[in-house]
Amino acid sequence: MTHYTKPRARKVRILATLGPASDTPEMIEQLFLAGADAFRINMSHGEQADKAKLIEHIRGLEKKYARPTTILVDLQGPKLRIDKFAGGKVELKTGAKFILDADTKPGDASRVYLPHPEIFAALEPQTRLLLDDGKMVLRVLNVSPQRIETQVEVGGMLSDRKGLNVPDVVVPVAALTEKDRSDLAFAVSQHVDWIAMSFVQRPEDVAEGKKLIGGKASLLAKIEKPAAIGRLEEILELADAVMVARGDLGVELPPEQVPPLQKRIVSTARRMGKPVVVATQMLESMITSPSPTRAEVSDVATAIYDGADAIMLSAETAAGAWPIEAVSIMDRIAMQVESDPDYHARVQFTKISADATTADALAASAAQIVQTIDTSAIICFTSSGSTARRIARERPMVPVLVLTSHIATARRLGLLWGAHSVRTKDIGSFEEMVAKGRRMALRHHLGTAGARIIIMAGVPFGTPGSTNVLHIVRLTGDELKGH
Ligand code: PGA
Ligand code: MN
Repeated sequence: MTHYTKPRARKVRILATLGPASDTPEMIEQLFLAGADAFRINMSHGEQADKAKLIEHIRGLEKKYARPTTILVDLQGPKLRIDKFAGGKVELKTGAKFILDADTKPGDASRVYLPHPEIFAALEPQTRLLLDDGKMVLRVLNVSPQRIETQVEVGGMLSDRKGLNVPDVVVPVAALTEKDRSDLAFAVSQHVDWIAMSFVQRPEDVAEGKKLIGGKASLLAKIEKPAAIGRLEEILELADAVMVARGDLGVELPPEQVPPLQKRIVSTARRMGKPVVVATQMLESMITSPSPTRAEVSDVATAIYDGADAIMLSAETAAGAWPIEAVSIMDRIAMQVESDPDYHARVQFTKISADATTADALAASAAQIVQTIDTSAIICFTSSGSTARRIARERPMVPVLVLTSHIATARRLGLLWGAHSVRTKDIGSFEEMVAKGRRMALRHHLGTAGARIIIMAGVPFGTPGSTNVLHIVRLTGDELKGH
């Protein structure tokens, strides 16, 4: 028996990463019940076969709860790594010389193999190289096609296959590695809803990803390279969503530059009507502790006040000791922030101006109407999801119930602020639209007898991009009789 779960009472969505701490059907269900709206599968770890199982578990939930579920597959991207050392690790002494070269022999305290020949040509003397999430810093002295001679500016213990970041230059690496291409094909074959590209540097990277995905999933561009910041609007133009990937962003840039960038990325994405996810270290201490720090709670609240579409948990749910508690606390923070009488004004701090389209004019009007008269929900009929995105872009005060006959649309909208999607049969007439809008509002607990709702749709029905109706009706409470 299917039971209709109530829409979330909050607008911000929670994206939870799955991993060893949360890979069973029971755990995934618990995360969902605690408040996870969408699940992230990280291709940086593990095998495709195991990911296929996760996807199956998530789709199982969808059936059980009659609620579209959202799956995001996150590609590892071109993360640069050094090779191995003869003894597993070495100490880099501050002030010493250290060489990265093209010799495949295991490394020692004076040198190591760098298996990325294309990097050598991009470097110049004075370029900074960061090792192991920025824990160690090298400064390039000389570079030839076979050899990068550096001086250690900040030393430390360096072990096998640690990551290398080159923040100061646009690195001439392909946006998608062989592994990424294989993982992308896998994700498409599994009918996932979103594919995330890591270390995007240029709009061309997004264009290439889009071409490979071929419309079979939406594309999220992770903003974690300084080069991407400089071309944010062009990247947003092509991508379907972005992520403020604060982990790598805070390695490539001084961490104090991340908060203003978070504000800028969130407001730019909101203006452009693309979902934006704020990610990484949101409740980091909960990897080992059942309660978060006050600073973490404040950080989560800030992202919600900024009007982000979604907030993300990484290791907290994938590998931590308290995955369910992490989601519950995020949910509680969101409920508290969104019930703050000042919440709406703070979210509206980002000024959105409507495009000169009928859909935008109606979306802006709907947001205005709910501030003028008491309204319990906006019901929106959509096929591509575009009307829902334009409505959510206005950040209206009431929930948005999205009705679509396309399951792919319903699933993809799981990252969108304030939207609750339901798959339903297409409608054929104005009367049917009104009847179904009222019935669905009641069934999904978005209004009781006497409440007003706004219904938006496009007539003639079934023509994408034709939104031209805004209708206000009152529920009688009898809508479900005979159904
Ligand atoms: P990651 O991306 O967890 O895949 O590294 C997020 C980030 O860098 O913040
Ligand atoms: Mn990252």
